[in-house]
Amino acid sequence: MESTNKKTQSASLKPYVYDLTLEGWQEWAQSNGEAAFRGGQIFDWLYVKRVSSFDEMTNLSKSLRDKLKEQFDFVTLTEVAKYESKDGTVKFLFELSDKNAIETVIMKHNYGNSVCVTTQVGCRIGCTFCASTLTGLKRNLAPGEIIAQIVKAQQLLDAKNERVSSIVIMGIGEPFENYDAMMTFLKVMIHPKGLNIGQRHITVSTSGIVPNIYRFADESTQINLAISIHAPNDKLRSKLMPVNRRFPFDELIEACRYYVAKTGRRITFEYALMGGVNDQPEHAEELAQVLKQFPMAHVNLIPVNFVSERDYVRTPRDDIFTFQRILERSKVNATIRREQGSDIAAACGQLRAKHMESSAR
Ligand code: SF4
Repeated sequence: MESTNKKTQSASLKPYVYDLTLEGWQEWAQSNGEAAFRGGQIFDWLYVKRVSSFDEMTNLSKSLRDKLKEQFDFVTLTEVAKYESKDGTVKFLFELSDKNAIETVIMKHNYGNSVCVTTQVGCRIGCTFCASTLTGLKRNLAPGEIIAQIVKAQQLLDAKNERVSSIVIMGIGEPFENYDAMMTFLKVMIHPKGLNIGQRHITVSTSGIVPNIYRFADESTQINLAISIHAPNDKLRSKLMPVNRRFPFDELIEACRYYVAKTGRRITFEYALMGGVNDQPEHAEELAQVLKQFPMAHVNLIPVNFVSERDYVRTPRDDIFTFQRILERSKVNATIRREQGSDIAAACGQLRAKHMESSAR
């Protein structure tokens, strides 16, 4: 049976109902003297019918429901704040059962609803342009706490007869530092008997945890990979992202080469433009030289969000277009990320940082 007690970091002493994959539920049913198909019924109640209590699982016997109550908890995500942008983006600040706060964002696109999930409480990676890292890492989320964010989003969308059509794992935290929980999350999300979200509609973003890029390549999924590169060379990247001192630029590029060779899939490179720091034409030239070896590479240029505790300023509009043109001249495909929710403190970690500030007062 899958491990259900890895969550010592979270407040609940029991595993969460969302911690198990379908196979995990089938094994749990059998090890509790039930037929394996009972596990399938539980999975169906959780992800197709999306119930919020064991008593609603009416095709299970009372004794089985009692066993579930004894052994599992539902995840409680208490909405402590909700911010709605003019462009339809909705940001939620949820409190977990141990009072830690996490952010989840629903973005409305013309192709559907995309949800950005958080994988850790805080983050230890220390990117110098990110609010999430200001107070370090508190703990990993359990798989069930990541999954609960999507179930909650889907329950909210159910009222409008809409569905979660894509997922980005780009919220607070480094998913490749909570790898096993992230993989359980992904298995549940893509399962045809669960939420059935297309693999190609899911993107995992990493700051460059090299060993887990190899591991992820070997999983042979169709899930998209994004690398937060943010600099065209080792020296500058180490200044902006301390993770580069653990996993240097060349090792990261080598891991990307392996990923592309192994999966045949393209990588998206995220590049946050910081005025006067990494946004000059020479940076674009250098980045183009590095990335043109990846014929299908895609660069996502992100005008950096202002974080009051940090010194970075935005790149002027014309300079963003110049940067893009230089990449494209070298046949490196680049787009400028459309900003969503900028009127609601939408930068990753800003809501949580504000909440923690006000709770501390
Ligand atoms: S950008 Fe991502 S990886 Fe970097 S500190 Fe922020 S949350 Fe962590």
